[in-house]
Amino acid sequence: SYAIGIDIGGTKTAIGLVNSEGQVLAKTSLPTDQTLLPSEMVDRIAEAVNGLLNDKGLQPSDLLGIGIGAPGPLNTKLGIIAEPPNMRGWWGFPVVAAFKKHFSSEIVFENDATAAALAEKWVGAAQAAEHFIYITVSTGIGAGIYSHGKLITGATGNAGDIGHMAIDPAAGTCVCGQQGCLEFVASGTAIARSASELLGRSITSKEAFDLAFSGQDGRMEEIVNRAFRYIGIGCVSLINTFDPELLVIGGGVSQVGAPMFDAVSDYIKRYALNPSGRDTQLVPAALQQDAGLIGAAALIHIPYS
Ligand code: ADP
Ligand code: ZN
Repeated sequence: SYAIGIDIGGTKTAIGLVNSEGQVLAKTSLPTDQTLLPSEMVDRIAEAVNGLLNDKGLQPSDLLGIGIGAPGPLNTKLGIIAEPPNMRGWWGFPVVAAFKKHFSSEIVFENDATAAALAEKWVGAAQAAEHFIYITVSTGIGAGIYSHGKLITGATGNAGDIGHMAIDPAAGTCVCGQQGCLEFVASGTAIARSASELLGRSITSKEAFDLAFSGQDGRMEEIVNRAFRYIGIGCVSLINTFDPELLVIGGGVSQVGAPMFDAVSDYIKRYALNPSGRDTQLVPAALQQDAGLIGAAALIHIPYS
């Protein structure tokens, strides 16, 4: 059986046809054009979905359903995108109703990080875990929490928005208005900001890592290590709160690899509150590019709540 997964993002929307084994049979992506109305974007996405189905000789009636992941804050009870900072044009948009105009199959809608966690459970790094947390460190920071064999979605689908846990209130003010959010101090955006301030020119977080690990700039190393320590602090809070067996970290920044995983792992071994907490496994995400669309399709293929 087949599902469509749609991962709506600030820069692009990924769309995939996914079978019941979690294999992506066909996929495409569209730039999220901020000059278009969201309803026009949905028209284009629907066209792309029909294109994928046509290519495989399928009809919309062959679909088990359509899963949609989108950045928070959203409201899955109301089926709306609420107020994601990078998608201002979509604020309040009734995304589920918009897709229902195009398709009669079941439509399920969840936060993108929650959906990506389900993808890791389904075909990724968390297949054996009944209790785990998936964390994405990229432009922002988010998480999906899987506990007792189920996703914790919260009342409105916003559970796991750990990017806005306060970690260091002295550090400055986040886009959300609170001071010292995890995302404000440890995301790729945060590392790039601090590194650019240090150098007096604009660089990316990837470039900051390369400089830090070249051993030529101790201050850049400090910036990077501070971000890793903040991620460690966030992980310890999550371990102490949810008692997971496993943490899975994905997102662009996690591609830096061992330096981050070793630093976070050391922090957990030192500060998690109980012996089992200190033993919490930490592994890289198995799915990178396709986590969002596989997760969106997983919402249709597997029971999660
Ligand atoms: P998005 O936030 O749009 O999902 P990504 O997950 O690719 O995008 O995250 C982008 C962030 O990851 C940027 O801050 C970028 O500098 C950083 N990044 C991308 N690739 C790497 C890499 N190989 N190593 C370290 N950081 C990376
Ligand atoms: Zn915040």
